[in-house]
Amino acid sequence: MELGILKLIYVVIDGMGDLPIEELGNQTPLEFAETPKMDFLAGRGKLGLMYTVGRGVAPESDVAVISILGYDPYKYHVGRGPLEAYGAGLDMRDGDLALRCNFATLGEGKRIIDRRAGRNLTSSEASELAKAINSLVKLESYPASFEFKNTIGHRGVLIIRSKAGPLSAKISNTDPAYERVAGLGVAKADVKMILEDCVPLEDSEAARISARLVNEFVQKSHEVLENHEVNKRREAEGKLKANIILTRDAGNALPKFFNINEKYGVKFACLADMPVERGIARLAGMHPIELPPPSGDLVHDCLIRAERLLDILDDFDCFYIHIKGPDEPGHDGNFMLKAEKIAIIDKHFFGSILPKINLNETVICVTADHSTPCKLKAHSDDPVPLLISGGKIESDGINKFSEKECRKGSLGILEKGTALMPILMKTIKET
Ligand code: ZN
Ligand code: ZN
Repeated sequence: MELGILKLIYVVIDGMGDLPIEELGNQTPLEFAETPKMDFLAGRGKLGLMYTVGRGVAPESDVAVISILGYDPYKYHVGRGPLEAYGAGLDMRDGDLALRCNFATLGEGKRIIDRRAGRNLTSSEASELAKAINSLVKLESYPASFEFKNTIGHRGVLIIRSKAGPLSAKISNTDPAYERVAGLGVAKADVKMILEDCVPLEDSEAARISARLVNEFVQKSHEVLENHEVNKRREAEGKLKANIILTRDAGNALPKFFNINEKYGVKFACLADMPVERGIARLAGMHPIELPPPSGDLVHDCLIRAERLLDILDDFDCFYIHIKGPDEPGHDGNFMLKAEKIAIIDKHFFGSILPKINLNETVICVTADHSTPCKLKAHSDDPVPLLISGGKIESDGINKFSEKECRKGSLGILEKGTALMPILMKTIKET
């Protein structure tokens, strides 16, 4: 640790931001939830709001995380596929085609019954299916090989490697829920649940070859999945089959981030469990801390993350911690569950670390990567709440952490997420 630098604990709570909800008396889930620990931090520190990418942009997590770690997403973003692949531990080289995938349920014709195969595919089921795909599918439309890996639940990644020249990422998604706008993955407002064909998005041989390879993979993997034992078992148990792979967010290179440690003269560690955030953090030069995958029990997951953080507190200066939880109920419009998840994070993550941390020597920042308003059931461009507390930071005198209170804070409104990291670095060095 460098002398004179405070520690930074930078906590990003996925999709925490929201809008007032009538049933909650026009409070947001964060405002409604019992959050005495974050309220305490708010009271000791400064508050503000932040557009994580910029006004008018409802970002996917990858784009937002890149931005709030201090990298201009318009300059550095290369598609989610390569980040997911890298984060999942696959070997990704320039010219390889990497895609984010979902196991989904295909019905009659091209109708998609569920984009997440009922959202109850276990890791062991997914691993069995991935193994079958890797051993039974052969790509023949062009000299190429592939590697498919399941990651968490219904999620996976695909890399296609050409044996003759680089592949192109200028291809469309087969997943009907997302489209590509200026290269960035954007959730569609009006989703038709039909399996799309992958089509080239530019007039080039490489794009045509790449699209053909993706379609071939989707078709052939469907044949393997449809009659697989795992799916026969799921059908017998009344569950949806995981019989199709949806692809999206193609990329053919890794982003060339500057090294975050060198740039700021600190040592960063990352505690994140999803491949995309892990991938971004590793590419930024952060040390990835091994974590078990999310167990489905947020209390347990928060306790483990708190314990791991306390274990390594002496070994690094800065810690980027990404906690899943409120985003999913936001997508489902379940505001009570979203508030409950926020309260769990407050009690079991912050409640576990605060008694063990000297706030005079530590700066804690709490924010979100984007808002996922329950009434929209999707990410939005609404600014996220932001608090910075600890060290010599003077208090704004606001004893509550919520979107409304943050609007009154002295940090004001950050128009871009890229502005946050320089502020945090200045704060931990002003000792
Ligand atoms: Zn997110
Ligand atoms: Zn989300």
